[in-house]
Amino acid sequence: MQETNQDHTVHVDKELLLQFLENEDIDLFREEFLQMHPYDQASFFKDLDESVRAKIYHYLSPEEMAELFENLEVEEEEYRDVFSEMNPTYAAEMLSNMYADDAVDVLNELDKDQVASYLTIMNDEAADEIKGLLHYDEYTAGSIMTTEFVAISANQTVRSAMYILRNEAPRAEVIYYVYVVDQDKKLVGVLSLRDLIVSDDDTMISDIMNDRVLSVSVGEDQEEVARRIRDYNFLALPVVDFQNHLLGIITVDDIVDVIDEEASDDYSKLAGVSDIDSLDRSPFAAARKRLPWLVILLFLGMMTASLIGRFEDTLDQVAILAVFIPLIAGMAGNSGTQALAVAVRGIATGDVEKESKSKLILREAGTGLITGTICGILVTFIVFFWQGDFYLGILVGISILSTLIVATLAGALVPLIMHRLKIDPAVASGPFITTINDIISIFIYFGMATLFMSYLI
Ligand code: ATP
Ligand code: MG
Repeated sequence: MQETNQDHTVHVDKELLLQFLENEDIDLFREEFLQMHPYDQASFFKDLDESVRAKIYHYLSPEEMAELFENLEVEEEEYRDVFSEMNPTYAAEMLSNMYADDAVDVLNELDKDQVASYLTIMNDEAADEIKGLLHYDEYTAGSIMTTEFVAISANQTVRSAMYILRNEAPRAEVIYYVYVVDQDKKLVGVLSLRDLIVSDDDTMISDIMNDRVLSVSVGEDQEEVARRIRDYNFLALPVVDFQNHLLGIITVDDIVDVIDEEASDDYSKLAGVSDIDSLDRSPFAAARKRLPWLVILLFLGMMTASLIGRFEDTLDQVAILAVFIPLIAGMAGNSGTQALAVAVRGIATGDVEKESKSKLILREAGTGLITGTICGILVTFIVFFWQGDFYLGILVGISILSTLIVATLAGALVPLIMHRLKIDPAVASGPFITTINDIISIFIYFGMATLFMSYLI
């Protein structure tokens, strides 16, 4: 997860806070610190040294720390460090004060036995809620949902529903939607706070509730949930099991994180890095992630080299041909990457699913034809005026034309095929496409040069 570094937090006086900590001035520190947004608190906290953080654990109550932690985003190892600094009772108390989904996110970064011991120390109610969420697989709806929602039954009045809402509000993560369940806890309807407020006190919930509730099942991929929230513009979606029992809700703030995560995930895969490098990782760790792909690409690159070697005779006869290899291979790579970005994005957002794939392929072929024709004509004239050789100009121009068509098509086809084969299309399609296109373009270029050799000498 990336963080913006620029200091947009003008209202945070770091120096002043550090001063208070230095002087061990609890009251002044608390007064200043607790006015800050929890996100700013978390950003300040994570840059502190261990010794200074130790003071913070004394200055802030577990409840106050819980809010900070809900907004804290650090690497796995750092979570371990921070928790080892904290007194276990304090840590457990803090976890039980967090929204269950956020607490689970944090606990997922810790060791199993550590998690178990925190769960034993904390109060049973919080522990049960967290335990209920801990066993869902990563990247599923279950793993990002929270159990702090408001549920009412259909056969009650608006008045009694408002009473329940008022009672639950301090704990619920979202109070804008109230979900209606039957005796078996099955989801049967939904109401917004607006619907409740504008209705008469004695109205029955069953009369005003919306019984066509959109929900997601717990095993659903989090990306799919994100798409649904984006498309329907709800602030939260209910999560149900296969029998339609209401298990939890997913709120839009968690979805923002998912979208960010998936985008950086796709982006790093496109670039051939298995996981986006956070800036503070060591060069060794970063190299280990990037090397596998580089080595594979090295071998693919050797194929390109040996392909050029096969055309040694052609090259010997017309040495000037070598000048245009980088141009042609480069253009193939560029147009392939453009088509790839469009296709991968379309697959990731699900838009490709809605449109027909043949339409996408036809469009890419058309795009390749248009861009290829224009680049080809341009290049023909440039080479002609530069080298004074019309046939060479034509050769390079036609190579660019056919290369662009093929490369653009490949850029769209490869991710579509990977998607069909249930391989994540973002997985290194980028470097892969570039290398494939190198091979194709060089083959086209030298193939044509060999065919029309008599015109070139
Ligand atoms: P409106 O858009 O009508 O002005 P709003 O902006 O107050 O309403 P929205 O968040 O847009 O509220 O929700 C609109 C309606 O959708 C609410 O009346 C609510 O009952 C309903 N709703 C909320 N969640 C769901 C859901 N999961 N499935 C179906 N309907 C839902
Ligand atoms: Mg609305």
